[in-house]
Amino acid sequence: MQPEVLKVPIGVESGTSARHPRWEDVPEAEWSDPRWQMTHRLRRLSQLRDVIKLTEDEEAALGADALFRVDITPYFLSLIDGDDPNCPLRRQVIPSSREMEAFDGRLPDANSEVEHEPVRGIIHKYPDRLVMLVTSSCTSYCRYCTRSRFVGDGKQNYGRTDWDEQIRYIRESPQVRDVLITGGDPLSIARNRLAELITELRAIPHVEIIRIGTRAPVFNPFVVDDELCEILEANHPVWLNIHVNHPYELTPELARACSRLSKAGVPLGAQTVLLAGINDSVEVQRRLCTELVRMRVRPYYLYQCDSVAGAGHFRTSVTKGIEIIEGLRGHITGFAVPTYVIDSPGGGGKIPVMPNYLLSLSPERAILRNWAGEVSEYHGPSGYRSGTTPPLRGPKPPRPHPDVLTVSDRLSAPQLETGDEEGAGA
Ligand code: SF4
Repeated sequence: MQPEVLKVPIGVESGTSARHPRWEDVPEAEWSDPRWQMTHRLRRLSQLRDVIKLTEDEEAALGADALFRVDITPYFLSLIDGDDPNCPLRRQVIPSSREMEAFDGRLPDANSEVEHEPVRGIIHKYPDRLVMLVTSSCTSYCRYCTRSRFVGDGKQNYGRTDWDEQIRYIRESPQVRDVLITGGDPLSIARNRLAELITELRAIPHVEIIRIGTRAPVFNPFVVDDELCEILEANHPVWLNIHVNHPYELTPELARACSRLSKAGVPLGAQTVLLAGINDSVEVQRRLCTELVRMRVRPYYLYQCDSVAGAGHFRTSVTKGIEIIEGLRGHITGFAVPTYVIDSPGGGGKIPVMPNYLLSLSPERAILRNWAGEVSEYHGPSGYRSGTTPPLRGPKPPRPHPDVLTVSDRLSAPQLETGDEEGAGA
């Protein structure tokens, strides 16, 4: 059965997604209350059986020991096709027995974040920016989560003492100009706590940019309300990246949430994890990227799925990722094409991977291939000398913290992108 939601034009702000019959009678004021969605999440086999025709494999997985946490909002469950075991939204949140499989290269901490954690919850790999993990909780839980080593585990949650230490570390690190708040999902913590944290960060003079990485608007779009927008607007520049994987996630409710954020002056980006059998096709990615742009959300990163425990069956070949970028570049608006990256195991940072458009290169000549396969030649100047641009006037940026300089030196190999630190978390 095709879910009703697919009849709603994607990216259109008016209208509502269809609800599962189980929640048809819930008053609209409750349904669109983000707290109602959180308190009515489904997690147990007996609960999920009522709304989804579970397969034997899913039933077995839901009963497994040491299962990565399950918790799904009624809103997101209503988007799932309960009759189709291959529904791309269902496979992201309903466990399968393949989650328990071992595979070559499987790691508990795929990006070696723990090695770069000077203070609990601070991941500091690059000189001028860092990640601040503020919670282990999420709105719902993705089966491929790269931070499953602590995400979903209440015993590993962060609290005021951790946040104080994190803020102290940032305050004492004058080279940090960009802080990414993530987790877990930062929009799942109490609103007054989030406001406090953002305000404390904004009060640190050298923190220029605050970024938030979240998937909450996909699982519970009602979380984007006036109060949240006011908090963000009062602390600009605040950027927000939404983790979104499939066009079926782009509902009118999500479109409205994005519109509110845009009106509050928050630049929006999207990060997507490439997932086998879910979004590993040019057709799906083209639709996702073009619809995101219609919603004023710029596709930012397409992540190769990390080799994290539980996610082996979601990984694609790297060839597939390159094929997808080849199918996007030149075929859709340039800024709708995300950067395809592999987060290098061992903590080496994100490495951009792309089709080979540069066929040959010498100092004065480049042979190029365009998106349509046509070959051309670029002639460079014969007398070009590098290094003639005058240095900038004004104060020099602060020197990196010595501890970080060591890591930075290791990362400064030219093929590494010193871009951003999100990972597939949130
Ligand atoms: S991928 Fe993000 S939203 Fe999903 S479970 Fe992990 S931290 Fe939470």
